[in-house]
Formats: sequence, C-alpha cells, structure tokens
Amino acid sequence: MSSNHPFGSYEPVIGIEIHAQLSTKSKMFCASSTEFGAGDNDHICEVCTAMPGALPVVNKKAIEYSIKMGLALGCQIRDRSVFSRKQYFYPDLPKGYQISQFDLPLCEHGKVEYILDGKKMEVSITRAHMEEDAGKSTHHGEYSLINLNRAGTPLLEIVSGPDMHSPQEAAEYARTVHKILRYLDVCDGNLEEGSFRCDCNVSVRKKGENIFNTRVEIKNINSFRFVEKAIEYEILRQIDCMETGEKINQETRLYDPDKNRTFMMRSKEEAHDYRYFPDPDLLPVILEEGYVEKVRRELPELPLKRAERFQQEYKIPEYDSFVLTQEKEIADYYEKVVKASGNPKAASNWVMTELMRELNDAKKTFAQSPVSAEQLGAMVMLIDKGTISGKIAKTVFAEMWATGKNPDVIVKEKGLVQITDTSAIEKAIDDVIAANPAETEAYRGGKEKLFGFFVGQVMKATKGQASPDMVNQLLKKKLAGG
Ligand SMILES: [Zn+2]
Repeated sequence: MSSNHPFGSYEPVIGIEIHAQLSTKSKMFCASSTEFGAGDNDHICEVCTAMPGALPVVNKKAIEYSIKMGLALGCQIRDRSVFSRKQYFYPDLPKGYQISQFDLPLCEHGKVEYILDGKKMEVSITRAHMEEDAGKSTHHGEYSLINLNRAGTPLLEIVSGPDMHSPQEAAEYARTVHKILRYLDVCDGNLEEGSFRCDCNVSVRKKGENIFNTRVEIKNINSFRFVEKAIEYEILRQIDCMETGEKINQETRLYDPDKNRTFMMRSKEEAHDYRYFPDPDLLPVILEEGYVEKVRRELPELPLKRAERFQQEYKIPEYDSFVLTQEKEIADYYEKVVKASGNPKAASNWVMTELMRELNDAKKTFAQSPVSAEQLGAMVMLIDKGTISGKIAKTVFAEMWATGKNPDVIVKEKGLVQITDTSAIEKAIDDVIAANPAETEAYRGGKEKLFGFFVGQVMKATKGQASPDMVNQLLKKKLAGG
C-alpha cells in the first residue's frame, strides 16, 4: 500500500502505457490475417510490407473494439479522430513510420477503479488511441531475419495518468485493465504471445513534494508479477541514485526477470523527434451520430460492478465475489448455477472449490467444463432438498465430472439417496452401540469427545448415506440412554 510502502521518505510516481492487441481477424489497415503462430511472413501483403503506392484502409472492427474499451474505461469518445505518421527507422518497420493517433486520439479522459487490500483505488486514463504494431526481427550472429506477420496488427494503447504510488498498485491496475479487455472480448489478453504488454514509467520524489522528477520507462513487460518486480527494482535503483547524488537519466530500460533487474536499452527520444503529421492516405475517422451510444448499449456489466452486485444480491463475501468475477465466463457460469439451485452461497462454494480445482487440474476453461451450470445447480438442489448429503454430493460430483450424466440419474443408478428413514438409522445406531460397549460406557461416564467417533461409525455403517442431521439427533438421544 502506498501509505505503508518500504521506500522510506520517498514516494514513487508510476504511470503505465498498455499495448493491447485487438482481436480482429484482419490487420489494422489491410486484409492480412492476424493469426498468431503462422509461418514466417505468411500473413503479409503489399500494404503491411509498404510496397510503393499501396493504400491503407481502416479496419472498422478495430474502431468498434477501441470505442468499446474506451467506454468501459469511462472515456470521452472523440467523434472525429485522426491517424498520424510517427516517423522512426527500424528494420522491422518497413514504411519508415508507424501509423498512430497523436493529437486527436479516439478516447480520452477516463478512469479505472479497482480494489486493493479492501480499499477502492482510482487511476485516471489520459487517453486510449489506435495504432499498428511493428514486425519482429530475430538476430542470428552475422545476419538478422525479419518476420512481418505482426506488422500492421491493430493495437489499442491505453495511457494512464501518473497516479500510482506503489508496485502493487501498478500491478493491480494492469490486472484490472486486462480483465476489462477480456470481459469485452476485444483482446485475447494472451501475455505469452504478446497480446498485452506494459510500459511502466517510474520516477521517485521526496514524500510531500508535488513535482515530477525525471522518469524512466521500463518497456515491454508481459507479466503482472514482472510489472511489480521491475517497478520495485527501478524505484530502489532511483532512490539509490538520489541518495548518492547520481543523475537519473531519462531513458528506456528493459527488465531481466532472471536477474531481477532493469538495464538500459536506449536514451529516450524526445516526442518531437517523431515528426508526427496526419497521414495523407487516411481520412479522419468520423463516427456516425448515435454510433457511440449504440456501442455503449452493447457493453456487458463490468467486473467490479458485477462483483459489487454479487455481494449485494447474493450476499456472498467480497472475496468470493472477486474470484467469481475474474473472468466473464466464470461469472456467467456462477449465475446460471444460482438460477438453477436457488442457493447463491452453496453455488459459490461448489464453483470455487470442487469445480475450479477439477478445471485447473484438467487445464480446462469454464466453457469446456464437462459439468454444466444447470447440472451443478440441480445437484446443489438435491442437497438442499435432503435427497443427498453434502458428503455424498462429492461422490455425485466426481461421477458427473467423469460421465457428464445428470445428478439425479447418478443418484438413482448408484443408489445414493440419503437415508432419512428414522428406523433404519436407529437400527444402525443400536448396532454401533452394541458393538462398542467400552466407548459407550466411557461416553456415558462423561467423555463427550467420543461423540464424533460414534457419528463416524454410524456414517460408515450407512455408507455415508444417512442424513447427518438425523444421525446427530438420534445418536444423542440413544447415547443418553433414550
Ligand atoms: Zn497486409
């Protein structure tokens, strides 16, 4: 927490730029595929390889996705935005410039809220603009290879204000943006494949100061844990510089997770080096009247709102509400179980424990679950109706997982119906008491801890099928000599 961070009299100031790859089928300005993992240069054309005279055409879906995300971040959407050329030389950038939005971005002035250690945090969103990705070079000793499959892939760059003051706040912010992108289904969020990358701007000042000192950018971090670790390292490095009077240079650094340190990549170009100007090949993006409102109406309920609603409507603990809303798929599944069972707390327990554990072990998503939400709901209902005990339910669940059968079918086939017949349970209790005279005497002599032993024996005798409530009740009476 910012109020209690281990940085002594210093306060870190952190802002994050997130590059999210939009999950469109084709690239930002051409029809080439965005599929990941294709053969080298399989997905290229004259536009994304910058053949002379080739003309870019804007991908409408990318605009829709960007507006969706902009709205989810509470941004104002500009009805006239402009693509500019950002000039720089890099071998994997064949045009010699990147098409990006500069002074007239699509989305501006939003905010993101999240909960950290029980406290609501807010980070401002300065802007979110569209741009294209570059290709990829790999270096092999004396020669380098260029793969342009990624060149021209649509990106949304989400720029936060310098509002975060601890590595934990920064990592949680990145997680939150990632979660929202996935909820909207506008980015697959795949960190290993580079669909979601963070550039972290870090500076340090004395607590109580209101100035911005020289900031350092740590580029291309693709793990939330590394966001936290890289920022922490960088803060400590900068504090060390300040303490020893060493100058902090404005530069771009990279994070090495193996050594857990940042190292310099290049000194930072000033913004004016890029010589931005509006791309003459592209018309401004002008949104039809009513379009933004139409997209707004299609937005799903966002994770934090949904978690808060779960707490109120279903009376489940805050912790459960966050676990159950971490992915839209999970939240949708949970609500279906609630609907089918009418028992929100039991539904939450079964989803969060048995089901999540099995899915995890099998490396399956909720959509791939062999147990449907309706089936799990029906099983919870069988427990609530007293047809099966909670203990037997675990057997039923395992069987549902293995066979995909409905719970009532399994209960019938395996003869798992709970025993609620008083005389049958009394008979089992009588047998247990008769078979354990020493324990019975000890219990009656005051050793009440033995009660659990008797419960266990009766349950064993009834193959776990006796109603635990009735066993407790009848056993107490019988042991008391009744
Ligand atoms: Zn292309």
